[in-house]
Amino acid sequence: MDEITAKKRIEELSDELYRYNEEYYVFDNPSVDDYTYDMKMKELKKLEKEFPQYLSSDSPTQKVGGFAVNTFAEVKHTVQMASLQDVFSFEEVEAYFERCLNSLGKDTAFVVEPKIDGLSVSLEYRNGEFFRGSTRGDGFVGEDVTANLRTIRSVPKKLNQNIPYLEVRGEVYMSRESFNELVKQQEINDEKPAKNPRNAAAGSLRQKNSKVTAERKLDIFVFNIQQIEGINLLSHKESLDFLKSLGFETVPGYVSVRSAEDAIKRINEIAEERVDYSFDIDGVVVKVDDFSKREAMGATAKCPKWAVAYKYPPEEKQTILKDIEVNVGRTGVITPVAVFESISLAGTSVSRATLHNQEFISEKDIRIGDTILVRKAGEIIPEVLKSISHNENSTPFYLPDKCPVCGTSTVSCEEESAVRCPNVDCPAQLLRNIIHFASKKAMDIEGLGPANIELLLENNLISSVADLYELKANDLIVLERFAETSAEKLVASIQNSKNASLDRVIFALGIRNVGSETAKLLCDRFPDIDQIMSATTEEIISIDGFGDITAKNVYDAFRNERNIELIKRFREYGFTMQYISNKSEDERFKGLTFVLTGTLPTMTRDEAKAIIEKFGGKASSSVSKKTNYVLAGEAAGSKLTKAVELGLKIIDENEFKNMIK
Ligand code: NAD
Repeated sequence: MDEITAKKRIEELSDELYRYNEEYYVFDNPSVDDYTYDMKMKELKKLEKEFPQYLSSDSPTQKVGGFAVNTFAEVKHTVQMASLQDVFSFEEVEAYFERCLNSLGKDTAFVVEPKIDGLSVSLEYRNGEFFRGSTRGDGFVGEDVTANLRTIRSVPKKLNQNIPYLEVRGEVYMSRESFNELVKQQEINDEKPAKNPRNAAAGSLRQKNSKVTAERKLDIFVFNIQQIEGINLLSHKESLDFLKSLGFETVPGYVSVRSAEDAIKRINEIAEERVDYSFDIDGVVVKVDDFSKREAMGATAKCPKWAVAYKYPPEEKQTILKDIEVNVGRTGVITPVAVFESISLAGTSVSRATLHNQEFISEKDIRIGDTILVRKAGEIIPEVLKSISHNENSTPFYLPDKCPVCGTSTVSCEEESAVRCPNVDCPAQLLRNIIHFASKKAMDIEGLGPANIELLLENNLISSVADLYELKANDLIVLERFAETSAEKLVASIQNSKNASLDRVIFALGIRNVGSETAKLLCDRFPDIDQIMSATTEEIISIDGFGDITAKNVYDAFRNERNIELIKRFREYGFTMQYISNKSEDERFKGLTFVLTGTLPTMTRDEAKAIIEKFGGKASSSVSKKTNYVLAGEAAGSKLTKAVELGLKIIDENEFKNMIK
């Protein structure tokens, strides 16, 4: 790779990893899986090694990835809460052993233990009493989450021995059982389900309200003494035994080894055992046992040199493709789903995976009866990698030319490589349309989740969203799961939704490409339903943020008989359809683009974004020459670096507050 390409790629990777860190550590909501993150980090490390002139001290390879956000008070860590050096192959484990044994002597002992997939915390005790607990943050400053940690059963509040001062490090996690319970509850409440136990644990611990944390059933395994007064411990094993005697739950399944060979043997064993663990792990940690030897090995800015974390590669297995199911989505898109003989992958049993679309199936020539290769890494959604072999007499698979639910001829939609059922009254679409209509960002009808909607459809009480407004409590009481109060409550929340702001009603109609933000833009320009219905395509295209396709979809939607009839009925039922805008008359930021980066002292990013939009400005996620202001907070990373390079105007929260006075 030449120098210019390398510089560009280093910047690209740093930007991406910085964004991933923020999504993962600040919002507990990653957009990519850990394997993708790890591979990008590996590529960045390799490039920085080859082109050290582009290694910046700000690089994600040089810093612990977290941040302390201002929702919580800060805790300065006296002893750094470092990260671990990741390795992905047994050769790298062998190289680590060679390094350690060469500098520490052949008689060095190591400990191998599971790497718990949760979030790192510090617990502090004075005179045997728990007094403070904090997150890792950036390794130097964490968040004070004492009250939330107190709700965790396995955090001892009082130790079995009165030690003057003790700081212990551990991993807070959510068991698979608690995670499954949480997701079930979230589905019932129509909330977005947590992605995996790690993010659920992080989100639950970093709650403002400790009662929520308490409901989430978290646990902790401790694995290190950061500081202790009055007691002298010489090794890791000794300290784990001691922590156990104090009442802590220590990382289970650790063994002592003296060679790379034995460590690899244990890594392979843990790979088998992990299926039976009640919690997720994301690898195995190998550590030097003796504390004085650890000190001799030292550390880099981010990780100790005396330990490595081996990360398991994604698991791949062969299985038989029993069937290809065809599902119809809310907008009529027909999606093929592989149904295969159940296999155990990365600790879970897997039997289904999406096949995306016809192009995916044809490219890989996937046929029913094939032996296929399926991959899953940790929490990644399982994916079909390829077809290994076909059955005799098998034929290529094609999506049906008739909708499997209503039998209407399907249509191909080239720009999306999708096949669609065009029948808006198709029962499959109807269910999903009503779910969308009632959802939080749309009409926000409390208590009208998927299960209740299905019940209403099955009992022929509704056949369109407008029918909801005809429902009486008496219609519902006769149904299983409804009693008088719950029936009345649901009818009341349906009736209440008639006051929803116009943009919500537009979004609730489920017009293709019209999300909640687009609906707001439309209403900013046409704050009245009649204006929207009579707007021409040209008028709609002229709205900032609208392209040709979206404008045409909006125009067509209001020429569609079904939608015209719906709006007519909404009027009859007394929908207010008034637009309640968050915008103010004051458009001082009109035409200005802001980029937010880092953590602001008192405002959340969403708050700052809402203020910018209220005054007519735009909040963008990437820095470019067109950016007018970069609003930077603490731990701002590569976006800030880029802003400086481009000579952009950088402001802090105080300056921003002056601008909005
Ligand atoms: P790390 O995962 O490599 O390891 C360090 C952490 O392991 C420590 O903080 C510690 O708390 C924990 N740990 C668990 N069990 C342990 C044990 N027995 N002994 C010692 N430590 C133990 O490094 P990291 O900096 O915490 O996180 C980076 C990782 O997080 C990445 O490799 C990636 O997998 C994931 N990540 C993912 C995304 C994403 O967008 N998907 C973003 C950021 C980070």
